[in-house]
Amino acid sequence: MALTANLIGDRQTFVTHLECSLTGERYEADRLHGLSQAGRPLLVRYDIEALGKALPRDVLEGRPTDLWSWRELLPVRHTGSIVSLGEIETPLVPIPASGGANVLVKDEGRLPTGSFKARGLVMAVAMAKELGVTRIAMPTNGNAGAALAAYATRAGIETVVLCPDDTPEINVREIAAQGARVHRVNGLIDECGAIVGKGAAEGLWFDFSTLKEPYRIEGKKTMGLELAAQLGWRLPKAIFYPTGGGTGLIGMWKAFDELEQLGWIGSERPKMFAVQASGCAPIVRAFEAGEEHAERWENAHTVAAGIRVPKAVGDFLILRAVRESGGRAIAVEEEALQRATAESALQDGVLLCPEGGATLAAWREAVAQGWVEAGEKAVLFNCATGLKYPLPDRSATLDKDNLPDLARL
Ligand SMILES: *Cc1c(COP(=O)(O)O)cnc(C)c1O
Repeated sequence: MALTANLIGDRQTFVTHLECSLTGERYEADRLHGLSQAGRPLLVRYDIEALGKALPRDVLEGRPTDLWSWRELLPVRHTGSIVSLGEIETPLVPIPASGGANVLVKDEGRLPTGSFKARGLVMAVAMAKELGVTRIAMPTNGNAGAALAAYATRAGIETVVLCPDDTPEINVREIAAQGARVHRVNGLIDECGAIVGKGAAEGLWFDFSTLKEPYRIEGKKTMGLELAAQLGWRLPKAIFYPTGGGTGLIGMWKAFDELEQLGWIGSERPKMFAVQASGCAPIVRAFEAGEEHAERWENAHTVAAGIRVPKAVGDFLILRAVRESGGRAIAVEEEALQRATAESALQDGVLLCPEGGATLAAWREAVAQGWVEAGEKAVLFNCATGLKYPLPDRSATLDKDNLPDLARL
């Protein structure tokens, strides 16, 4: 089997326990957990001191640069629990024309199943397998369901996936093609989630909703670890993250803390910008109102399906990270995110997904408002390949039997 060298041999993990993100209450590791008693996400904690002794930074730097190079900072105990589809390090691609000289796109569309949901789901599925789960259900706007289907099918775990009936068609078909049973629901993702919760309460399956099991965050955390290593352990000045459930933003914030405890980075942090679409901006509304939690957003709509999340269970963790970092939550108009998406493709040859386009539009807004400087290093997260979304038709037709002046094509 052509697994990465990082997966050969049994693994060592430094997990000590899990912790409620709201109350700090402790939970035992190596047990199946959903949310905490308080109904909030659980965070995995490690013995960072022992980890630092076992893993000098130069040892890490000598490894192949994929997700599993971080294995000591990840929760899986046994290599045999992992089904890998090749979770590579994703590149930082400059977009000097549509962005700026120091604007880099972290192109997560290169990952298996074409989105960064692979990072979270490869981890969560490995842990589910390790802990004996045989049936999983999940609500999705598309990409998470596709990643779950791919990894769970390969791990021999049954999956039921519920998505809003207007989820991009390619996603719905991709989920089913990879072996999940997918149902289109006449509601939004949180309404799909309520059905998943009902079935879980009846004991029909394990609930894999965003942040309702503890390990997707750990997978998404690798975005922060990887970014730090790629930039020579100097974090950028700003990160623009398209925010739905916020797993990635929360995960990166956690990663930076762990890296600082290891002494691999200092105490400086990027300004974290949580980017939403103006048609679904619960986090932005709460940020601007100074609230700690975000109310559900009614009548959510945006083409950026991945960030159409009316209610996030980790809302307070997103808001806390954004505020501590000195960043902001920014809503961008539909027209601005579509223009940004078009311009990055036309001017820089980088086909962003609409959620990625939203981060470019938000960066422009942040520069215009003076929240970041145009020349400062900023990283935009493009979390899926643009190829998964309907593209505008910019073609013309040509009659082979009646050719015009070819010089004018
Ligand atoms: C899921 C998704 C997001 C949002 O990610 P969260 O970590 O849940 O906030 C953004 N963009 C794309 C393409 C996605 O699939």
